Amino acid sequence: MKETKYIFVTGGVTSSLGKGIIAASIGKLLQARGFAVTNQKLDPYINVDPGTLNPYEHGECYVTVDGHEADLDLGHYERFLNVETHRENNVTTGRIYQTVINKERRGDYLGKTVQIIPHITDEIKRNIKALGSKGQLDFVITEIGGTVGDIESLPYIESVRQLRWELGKNCLIVHLTYVPYLAAAKELKTKPTQHSVKSLQEQGVQADVLVLRTEHTISQEMRRKVALFCNVEPNAVMQSIDVPTIYRVPLNMQLEKLDEVVLTKMGFELSAVPSANMVNWTAFVEKLENAKEEVKIALVGKYVQLPDAYKSIIESLIHASAYNHRKLKLDLILSDKVDDENVAKKLKNVDGVIVAPGFGQRGMDGKFAALKYARENNIPCLGICMGMQTMSIEFARNVLGYEDANSTEIDEKTVHNVVDIMDEQKNVLNLGGSMRLGAYKCKIKKGTKACRIYGKEHISERHRHRFEFNNEYLDEFEKNGMICSGINLESDLVEIIELESHKWYIGVQFHPEYSSTVVEPHPLFISFIKAAIEDK
Ligand code: GLN
Repeated sequence: MKETKYIFVTGGVTSSLGKGIIAASIGKLLQARGFAVTNQKLDPYINVDPGTLNPYEHGECYVTVDGHEADLDLGHYERFLNVETHRENNVTTGRIYQTVINKERRGDYLGKTVQIIPHITDEIKRNIKALGSKGQLDFVITEIGGTVGDIESLPYIESVRQLRWELGKNCLIVHLTYVPYLAAAKELKTKPTQHSVKSLQEQGVQADVLVLRTEHTISQEMRRKVALFCNVEPNAVMQSIDVPTIYRVPLNMQLEKLDEVVLTKMGFELSAVPSANMVNWTAFVEKLENAKEEVKIALVGKYVQLPDAYKSIIESLIHASAYNHRKLKLDLILSDKVDDENVAKKLKNVDGVIVAPGFGQRGMDGKFAALKYARENNIPCLGICMGMQTMSIEFARNVLGYEDANSTEIDEKTVHNVVDIMDEQKNVLNLGGSMRLGAYKCKIKKGTKACRIYGKEHISERHRHRFEFNNEYLDEFEKNGMICSGINLESDLVEIIELESHKWYIGVQFHPEYSSTVVEPHPLFISFIKAAIEDK
């Protein structure tokens, strides 16, 4: 049994400082020293999970292997640490309250008045400690969403205060703040940091380490001043300066000695701990930063105004481009604005096209136009989830000649329902809806492009959808060159389709982007980029 240590990452001054990246960087540096680590995110909103959130508002919904719809920060954790996260790694206020209220209804509280302290805070602490209780982890790094001072995050900060007492040296608080630069005065300003540390202190929590986000180097003198005002040791005040790629952040934090300070404060003898092995990571960052030649990829989707809505796809493309020694030039194309007339202009110079996941009717026609263009012009093209579904419909319409082919998600009365819902799903849907979520097995057919790409016949990939390829049409598809190269044998579901005569035209019902990591980029993305740069 390991004695798990808990690190909390809070944020002050503004949101969007990159707490997730700092939390993941701490995880990475500790992991690189041989520790078993996981990252957790506590989200202060009332939604029970982010599955129902509009991507415009909250960015992508990430999916864990066990089928949990999670905050996109879990994607950063997996990409950085290369270890899977699960349902327990993401908790929302909604879920905490739901559990407490269910317990109350069952009578578990034996007539007591149910209150924020201790009942909500106990449930928060139970969720934090649940990760460590199995005795397999050295560190649990918990990021608290929101900004210190928000009403919503009070119970979380209070839980941290209580845990500090319970855990003693096994608990550490890293507070991330922002140091603005006033151009007119040509000065960096630490006052907002002082205020945010004070606000944390008012809630009974003293930060151990301060990470100052900044656009300009913060001098030693200024760090000493912050230390003095904020009750923190001078060596525990460090900067996180703006960098062109988030993958630089762990390396910069290593230079700032973040891992050393954390370990020393938590009672480790530094000489007894291996140093951080960041060789693979550094090699990746160097490839990424040194790539000169571009690969131009168009991402066609309906949420492109907020690129965070496609976070994992974009990161997967960045990984795969770097491994192919290319710099990614991403063209985000709003599918609503694409049609048969303008598609050639929009896609003329691209090396590859990705047709994105999505729900509902809007933007479908633009996806059809982009797919037809990529198919007819031999442009490498990857369709993901709804992207594969639209690939199937476009093929049925324009190659098989079923003009009215559609998905029953879009038009229930469609005659040629190439994309349909399975009967068992229909029943669940009537009961309020359910999705195929999480990792499912897929058997790849020998001799296909997919088989060459994966280099194996049995894979497992993550899903998030309700509709499926309708097997009634499979024979006809295959006879006309669009073959099914991956199948889920338990339910006889088409998972991968590919166009034999095309350079690289592959549709996947699952989401490969959720499992691409820095040290193990996804083979589909690597192969897609490779095809995109071939003969160039
Ligand atoms: N709309 C499709 C379905 O529910 C695809 C969903 C997606 O692309 N994630 O099946």
